[in-house]
Amino acid sequence: MSGAGWRRELIAAAREMAARGLAVGTAGNVSLRAPEGILITPSAVPYAELTPEMIPVLHEDGGFEGRWRPSSEWRFHLDIYLTRPEAGGIVHHHAPHTTALAMARREIPACHYMIARFGGAPLRCAEYALFGTAALSQALLRALAGRTACLMANHGGLALGADVHGALAAATELEALAQHYLLSLQAGGPVLLSEREVAEAVEQFATAYRPNRPKG
Ligand code: 13P
Ligand code: ZN
Repeated sequence: MSGAGWRRELIAAAREMAARGLAVGTAGNVSLRAPEGILITPSAVPYAELTPEMIPVLHEDGGFEGRWRPSSEWRFHLDIYLTRPEAGGIVHHHAPHTTALAMARREIPACHYMIARFGGAPLRCAEYALFGTAALSQALLRALAGRTACLMANHGGLALGADVHGALAAATELEALAQHYLLSLQAGGPVLLSEREVAEAVEQFATAYRPNRPKG
């Protein structure tokens, strides 16, 4: 894919995040790993206004190219790519149910088998740190250990994927899981799955629930 092709992918994912109701205004940010470096949404630009020329490129030393400044959260995007080689895309949002739990600093326990999709239980809530700081990045790396998503105290949530489509799918499912958990709390609270049941679900995702491709 060309450099412009990767930029269009990033913009499409950011717009889709907003269209799905996961981000309002300029909240949230999206990045992907491309051959030329990490492409990330520029800071404080409404997603509808993005054009390929506006997309900054981040390098592993923290330097960036481009005329628009990168997302204020460039540091945690970079640190996740540096420490999680399997990550090809990252989506951070302030989606309503995810953020409601994060404001209460509640982690998501083993309340549904879908928790296994994110690596196991609990899906942690990272400690509070000011947005755009190295301290936030460190808190997120701790919360993400063995997981592909986390909540961010008094802020929102994030998910990573093998590519930006996978990250957006995971970030969308994170919001669905947060919504289901909140509704269940209103219904008296969930009955939690055991460690063995969660481990079985993790195994089932890795083996039986692989991508569905047509035969032949
Ligand atoms: P940016 O517009 O700088 O990406 O910031 C949005 C955000 O969600 C900060 O956490
Ligand atoms: Zn944010």
